[in-house]
Amino acid sequence: MVFGSIRVLVREVLRRLEPYAFEPSDRELASLVGLRPDQIVRLDTNASPYYPKGVINSVCRSVSKIRLNHYPDTSYASLRHYISCYAGVGPDNVIPTNGADEGIDIVTRAFVEKGDEVLAPHPTYSYFRVSSEIQGAEFIRIDSDDKFRIDIGALISRASERTSLIFLCNPNNPTGQSLPMREVERICSSVEVPVLVDEAYYEYCGTSAAPLIEKYQNLIVVRTLSKAFGLAGIRIGYLLASEETVDLLNKVRPPNSLGVLNIAIAERALRDPQFVKRFVERIAGVREWLYRELASIKSLEVFPSRTNFLLVRLLKGDSQDLWTRLLKRGLVVRRFASDPMLRNCLRITIGEMKHARVIANVITRYIEDAEGEV
Ligand code: PMP
Repeated sequence: MVFGSIRVLVREVLRRLEPYAFEPSDRELASLVGLRPDQIVRLDTNASPYYPKGVINSVCRSVSKIRLNHYPDTSYASLRHYISCYAGVGPDNVIPTNGADEGIDIVTRAFVEKGDEVLAPHPTYSYFRVSSEIQGAEFIRIDSDDKFRIDIGALISRASERTSLIFLCNPNNPTGQSLPMREVERICSSVEVPVLVDEAYYEYCGTSAAPLIEKYQNLIVVRTLSKAFGLAGIRIGYLLASEETVDLLNKVRPPNSLGVLNIAIAERALRDPQFVKRFVERIAGVREWLYRELASIKSLEVFPSRTNFLLVRLLKGDSQDLWTRLLKRGLVVRRFASDPMLRNCLRITIGEMKHARVIANVITRYIEDAEGEV
């Protein structure tokens, strides 16, 4: 590859890599339909409409005491303490990360090499594939059925000597479904490779593999404050694993990837996480209302969800047209143009009730129009 006048060798895997599809900016989206950026409501990233104002205000009041001229404590001892109390594991079972995505990268860097196979049910969170392929691995998708039920038996029997990692997203993005813990245990006990369980949406579902990390040495859990805590902007996530695995993962994690301000906010939020329950209850209420509204539409399939989003499939009409109709009202939802299994599907983040009402109205009218066209 030539940059200016310099010829640069680029790793072969990067030439072929289909990168993560970055979300377009508010400005870009607004310009498509003649709106202002401040009229755009993001219902495509599964972030929260709420954030803990009390936590932020309290950190702001003492911000002058935060030593911005110094690096963070690289062992993140204090943050690990708060995470360990919250997650019910020991502090030596915790690695704080710059969002769950960095946690995923740390795990693939530790375990996945060129020529390896990495397995995951399909469809699932697309960054699993990207992170694995950057390591030079072949990413193997184990297709779910047409109701998005995961084929655990197929996943287990596909594991071979070439397999170096299995990903499981529980509850799963983008389908919203969760696996019972006995199925997670079945996988961990049947394979001899690391199993990374992504629990980014844990708080919405309430069941976790975290208590199993000592029982299954190959189990690693990754979580985040981006979703239920309403803190996507501070980029804090964490890995939970056995002490032995934590020691290994610490060898590859970057030394100072968490900012001191973000650490201070995360610690304050984790010290008194009662607000998370209130946020989750509000979101679950809106989700159940929207689920019922959408489930009553004949030519629309809505998948039950234990997360802060709903996946829908249009049985009439075209998801791209509906996406544009919603965008004209300022509402951005997630589409899946290139995935045949998610054909005509949209993923809607649960936001405020007033936006859920508009979503329900626009979708109802769109489907009525589409049914009328037959
Ligand atoms: N895992 C899953 C399943 C997700 O949906 C997301 C959010 N896109 C992430 C990880 C990334 O989370 P974070 O903001 O903590 O990097």
